[in-house]
Amino acid sequence: MNRYVGAIDQGTTSTRFMVFDHAGSVVARHQLEHEQILPKPGWVEHDPTEIWERTRTVVGTALARAGLTAADLAAVGVTNQRETTLVWNRHTGRPYYNAIVWQDTRTDRLIADLDDEHTELIRKRTGLRPAPYFSGGKLRWILDNVEGVRADAERGDALFGTIDSWLIWNLTGGTHVTDPTNASRTMLMDLRTLRWDEELLRVFDIPAAMLPVIAPSSNPAGYGTTMPDGPFGGMVTIAGALGDQQAAAVGQVCFRPGEAKNTYGTGNFLMLNTGTDIVDSTHGLLTTVAYQFGDDAPAYALEGSIAVTGSAVQWLRDQLGIIAGAAQIEDMAAQVDDSGGVYFVPAFSGLFAPYWRPDARGAVVGLSRYSNNAHLARATLESIAYQTRDVVEAMQRDAGTRLSTLRVDGGVTVNNLAMQIQADLLGVPVSRPVVAETTALGAAYAAGLAAGFWAGTDELRSNWHEDLRWLPTWSDADRERGYTRWLKAVERTLGWADL
Ligand code: ADP
Repeated sequence: MNRYVGAIDQGTTSTRFMVFDHAGSVVARHQLEHEQILPKPGWVEHDPTEIWERTRTVVGTALARAGLTAADLAAVGVTNQRETTLVWNRHTGRPYYNAIVWQDTRTDRLIADLDDEHTELIRKRTGLRPAPYFSGGKLRWILDNVEGVRADAERGDALFGTIDSWLIWNLTGGTHVTDPTNASRTMLMDLRTLRWDEELLRVFDIPAAMLPVIAPSSNPAGYGTTMPDGPFGGMVTIAGALGDQQAAAVGQVCFRPGEAKNTYGTGNFLMLNTGTDIVDSTHGLLTTVAYQFGDDAPAYALEGSIAVTGSAVQWLRDQLGIIAGAAQIEDMAAQVDDSGGVYFVPAFSGLFAPYWRPDARGAVVGLSRYSNNAHLARATLESIAYQTRDVVEAMQRDAGTRLSTLRVDGGVTVNNLAMQIQADLLGVPVSRPVVAETTALGAAYAAGLAAGFWAGTDELRSNWHEDLRWLPTWSDADRERGYTRWLKAVERTLGWADL
């Protein structure tokens, strides 16, 4: 009985359900991709109904394959792609519109039109730099552009949620909640009070009646209980919820100030725990909630968000067709010793940290008649590592410390060449834990702590084990030469889009 904890990890490209034992080892898993809907340049949507269907299937399949039932689970945690925004009807459960994905840039004008006073207010109160990335503008777009939503929202019939809220609402049969890490990405929450901020709601003209209740990320009172006729086939308490990047930081046991992780998924997200201090970045990072466990004071973090890393690999696969699957990029890039002077800046959605330039667009520079697919593949892996170097530089300046090791996780970290390139371009060792699914693990930890399945963070710390470590091999001179050229390549992408 209650030997395990489950975690739903609803990511940008796929949905996973994983079951962990007390040692943090995986005992069951299933994963399914969902469609990326790309209606126009810059627009990215997901079908919320498809996401809920995928969630039902991965939970049901993983449990059935492992011969587990709801009674085997002490609790369930939910983690999700952050910022992705949807609105649904309280009575019918039907979404009014597709979910607008975090990468979507349709609100770039709306954000560019914010005056200085509002920009400053948002920065001070939320820790974010106004950008199309965050939920507030996306929600405003739905209220302004989808028939009937505003009237329903004012009556309290239309509900806003990020994907955590959507899944918990469906799993519990109608509980409308979120956690402070997800809420901290909306531009609508006060970072200090962890409450929706009335002034910000006025700035974005958002009816308060449509917002979920904000409850701790690790929630001893529980967010709600799963419906017996739902995918769990029984009643389990949902006791944890965290945005995916914060979940990865928890899964990587970054509980002390100064501890950091870098996750390589669709995008990359470097997060540094700053303890109970709210550190204001002066170098292009965001300030955000790391987690709130029960009644404890919230922990905060500095974050370097990069929009396009693993999705540049998908672009080579889906748009250019030069690889058949993501894994092929490693062999292709290994055919050449270097990128032959080719630099690829995948600024498809503008550039996030540390540049925050929605007007940037992607570029491949340094092409010659000699350049081939292998050079582009290698330049793609280098772009992942160079963008990481950009945020590491910013973080070191903000925090006034130097990184000694980079703790990594996420889909791209199965690529050994990519991780070797990362160590070479950064000049510090790169370390990957045994359980690379730190996002799901972090959600399980949040839920399991609340349920008393784990006694505290020290116990979780002893579950962390290194699997692999990559050491830098480049000379400092080569590293700096390469980085200087990367910065020149980035410069060429800025201002390309007319906003
Ligand atoms: P998310 O949670 O954002 O959906 P994941 O952590 O599941 O992301 O990682 C998926 C990303 O990893 C995809 O963008 C994919 O292109 C990339 N990826 C998967 N395998 C490899 C590989 N062998 N080399 C490089 N990138 C990879």
